[in-house]
Amino acid sequence: MSTLTSSQLILCGLRYRIGNGDKMTVARQLYQLQEIDLEIESEEKSLSQKTSQLGERQTLDNAQVRLTSEQQHLDELRRQQHDAEWEVDDMLSKIASAEEKLYGGKITNPKELSSLQHEVSMMKGKSDELENRALEIIDLVEAAEKSVAGATGELQKMEAEWQRQQRQLSEEIEQLKSRLAELRQKRQQLSEEIDSPAVKLYEKIRQQKKPPVARVEQGICHICRISLSASELQRARGGQPVQCGSCGRILFIP
Ligand SMILES: [Zn+2]
Repeated sequence: MSTLTSSQLILCGLRYRIGNGDKMTVARQLYQLQEIDLEIESEEKSLSQKTSQLGERQTLDNAQVRLTSEQQHLDELRRQQHDAEWEVDDMLSKIASAEEKLYGGKITNPKELSSLQHEVSMMKGKSDELENRALEIIDLVEAAEKSVAGATGELQKMEAEWQRQQRQLSEEIEQLKSRLAELRQKRQQLSEEIDSPAVKLYEKIRQQKKPPVARVEQGICHICRISLSASELQRARGGQPVQCGSCGRILFIP
């Protein structure tokens, strides 16, 4: 880092005076202060909005709740499928053992045989019914599996996107914080350069109405739209803080 010589320092000071000195009236300084304040307010608003979005996962939680309920529905259907298949197996083994008796040759009584035959045919009818029911449930299970797989994929995408947004949000919050620190420092510096009664007046008006400084354009207060008197304009041109006779704001003639 190079050190400035005293003559360079004088030159810098001179440039500053020539560049800004004449025009840097108190009203202009207050207007600059106001611009910084407006920027601070707007950055603070974004910061609080973004901070409230940080960790906000309502949409994700809702999607998770829906997925959990679909999974529970699928579990219930699988249980029903298991029961239905068990009933079919049970019926088939009952039929097998009845048929074994029927064709085994141990039963010879025609009445008994006919009754057993009737029983087997009743059980076959019941078994068909149970098989159809089991097939219906299998269809429902397949549909529910597809739906759960789709919802799981969707939730994973949402989660990844949420993570990305949260990272971005954190970065933006850090940027806003450092911008705000910069602005507050700039504000501090500027307000120290301005006559302190003028800063006090600015702060007092600012507590009651925002913004506290009004630009004057074509002889009109830009905020309350009232035409200023010749004497108000003349005083305002002097650069010292002059308040609008109507709205009380500090007048700034650009
Ligand atoms: Zn006004």
